Amino acid sequence: MTTLQNVDPEIWSAIEDEKRRQTVGLELIASENYTSAAVLEAAGTVLTNKYAEGYPGRRYYGGCQHVDEIESLARTRACQLYGAEYANVQPHSGSQANMAVYLTVLQPGDTILAMDLAHGGHLTHGMHLNFSGQLYSVVHYGVRESDQRIDFDQVASLAREHKPKLIVAGASAYPREIEHGKFAEIAKSIDALLMVDMAHYSGLVAAGLHDNPVRVADYVTSTSHKTLRGPRSGFVLTREENARALDRTVFPGIQGGPLVHIVAGKAVCFHEALQPSYREYAQQIIDNARVLAESLTSGGIRLASGGTDNHLMLADVTAIGLSGKIAEEALDRAGITVNKNMIPYDQRKPLDPSGIRIGTAALTTRGMKEDDMRRVGKWILTVLQSADDHTVADNVRQEIEEFATGFPVPGIE
Ligand code: PLP
Repeated sequence: MTTLQNVDPEIWSAIEDEKRRQTVGLELIASENYTSAAVLEAAGTVLTNKYAEGYPGRRYYGGCQHVDEIESLARTRACQLYGAEYANVQPHSGSQANMAVYLTVLQPGDTILAMDLAHGGHLTHGMHLNFSGQLYSVVHYGVRESDQRIDFDQVASLAREHKPKLIVAGASAYPREIEHGKFAEIAKSIDALLMVDMAHYSGLVAAGLHDNPVRVADYVTSTSHKTLRGPRSGFVLTREENARALDRTVFPGIQGGPLVHIVAGKAVCFHEALQPSYREYAQQIIDNARVLAESLTSGGIRLASGGTDNHLMLADVTAIGLSGKIAEEALDRAGITVNKNMIPYDQRKPLDPSGIRIGTAALTTRGMKEDDMRRVGKWILTVLQSADDHTVADNVRQEIEEFATGFPVPGIE
């Protein structure tokens, strides 16, 4: 019996169920991944006991000598990984990293130009119910209807018309590489600041496989738990000249004590991403996504923009007579986890949109390669082609269970 099992059998049992779910199914949620056993270990340590308000060498609590070392290593490694001058590794999440930048450079009522949620942007890019939509005046750009790629003519003309103080690049559901240089040019032409939210593709940037926004952006924000494969958290990169103002916004501006155990997990994740094997992993994520995309397309599913350059694809399932909600539920019954998602120019509603979003970062961590993706593609098609047939889903689930357990999940014996 583990200590947890003994003390709190209900929570222990739910965690055991979740371990099993993560092992026997196919995790294709584009924003998820499996951290390494080392990251898990760091995140589950006594560091959770420690208060450390402030920054290394400037704390409001005693006993911070060891956490100073940990946070300093996390900062140095983040800078090394992305070629940045300065890193704040304290934001608890990607949303808080974005909030930190907005509150550092904007006043309430200022204008931001960011990607439309319905075209792939994130809630923190100005959605009306999010703090970003409530505090700021938001103008949205999107993708062209013809090829579903970012419409830089629109970005430029909206920038000229609305003179935003901040332009936000980056997205949650955009399957193509983002040309940061084009955003930087537009921002420069109107004297705006540029923030790049690379949350989804920060692992691909770390591996040198996607354009590094640090070269051209004033601020770069990210989560650490998607393609980057760290603990669930966030961070911000910027130039040295912005460090003091940014730090003050994170603490005491919007947070109290950092989650030191998670900062340690981020330090480990940056260390792992600096190793040569990480580049191979990131390349495999992209190769797997390309093969899975081809496999779905050959089964009659239309993909937004026709394919993918990164770890994710947006599949329009209306082409095979389904909605995103029905597709998500059918796949779930078969042990395939995805999320329903709006596709650009969607005629349907967010709670039952036309698409599903599919990502390959997590399966790639388990060691799956191109041939495995072809099998995964076939299973997806089989389930979707008989979405209301529970027997088909049950049969696929059994096949998947047998298949998936052959690919270990880090940290689960
Ligand atoms: N930015 C982007 C582009 C995202 O996709 C996400 C999360 O999905 C976030 C920010 C927010 O991250 P979190 O959920 O950690 O607040």
